[in-house]
Amino acid sequence: MARRRQLFEGKAKVIFEGPEPGTLVQHFKDDASAFQDRKTGTITGKGVINNRISEHLMMKLSDIGIPTHFMRRLNMREQLIREVEIIPLEVVVRNVVAGSLVKRFGLIEGTPLPRSIVEYYYKSGELGDPMVNEEHITAFGWASPPELDEMMSLTLRINDFMSGLFMGIGIRLVDFRLEFGRLWEEDQMRIVLADEISPDSCRFWDTKTDEKMDRDRFREDMGGVKEAYQEVARRLGILPESGPADMRGPELMQ
Ligand code: UDP
Repeated sequence: MARRRQLFEGKAKVIFEGPEPGTLVQHFKDDASAFQDRKTGTITGKGVINNRISEHLMMKLSDIGIPTHFMRRLNMREQLIREVEIIPLEVVVRNVVAGSLVKRFGLIEGTPLPRSIVEYYYKSGELGDPMVNEEHITAFGWASPPELDEMMSLTLRINDFMSGLFMGIGIRLVDFRLEFGRLWEEDQMRIVLADEISPDSCRFWDTKTDEKMDRDRFREDMGGVKEAYQEVARRLGILPESGPADMRGPELMQ
């Protein structure tokens, strides 16, 4: 197999050059990290599950008219995506109090929020992804006011759709993180959903038991991380037929 050019390696994913101009290959690793990379580990099979979950959610969102970078899944760990210019923001939506909201405001974890809250963080590992507001974003030129409006409107639609989808399978969508990019077609630019949506980037709680089914299991050393991710995939109806034994998938070739 021809060696592919690796363009970027992140905590949980690797981006390779795609087969055609304007495309990239997104490869999902089993590596896990938390607390700005101060905690790292490996969860065997996580990449395979996240590839499937993200594919499923991106396709569902596309069905309701949300533009995304997703093109198609290539194999167990990889998907073909459109090359976009990533906007350096993490857009976080919260429906229920958890994580940093507990620490910042002394709120009780699990309290439903009176309305969904959207927050922006500037993507910079070096700076620890500081929280920013519209003033910083537009003053520093990370996104223009119309781009911000578009991201906010897409984010709220995604939140409504995903909250309903997960409620239907007994999962509470507590909060999640999105990334967006600029997609250039001819001389037109569109804001599209990028990166991934998976238990690495969302907080999922079982509606009945409040059990955590996401990366917090890794953050908090709760164990059963892979099983929880698998259960999310199972409820979405997308576990590979051959079951858990099949979850290892091909390893990353450098
Ligand atoms: N999140 C993420 N990547 C980050 C930071 C946050 O995917 O770098 C997700 C996180 O999994 C959660 C939501 O965004 O679903 C809100 O996270 P929070 O601000 O509470 O920070 P955390 O508790 O994850 O440090």
